[in-house]
Amino acid sequence: MSACPSCRERLELDENTEGDLLDCPSCGMSLQVVSVSPPEVVVYEEDKWEDEEELEDDEDEEDKRDDEEEELEDDEEWETEEWEDLEEDK
Ligand SMILES: [Zn+2]
Repeated sequence: MSACPSCRERLELDENTEGDLLDCPSCGMSLQVVSVSPPEVVVYEEDKWEDEEELEDDEDEEDKRDDEEEELEDDEEWETEEWEDLEEDK
């Protein structure tokens, strides 16, 4: 018998073996059985790999920001030309 580290709900690990993943029936927390004798469960961190992918995405976003700044400068020049044309029409 072990307990959920999140909500302290008692968990039966009779049918589980070391390394098994299970969801807490009370709070739904993802848990991993790290030991059956003595019974011990830890919160399963399933997003360890996703964090590394997010770091790569951040680098891409920085490149996009640079491009957007250049585009903004172009837009400002274009707007100025448009205003000059309108004044000529009057
Ligand atoms: Zn729980």
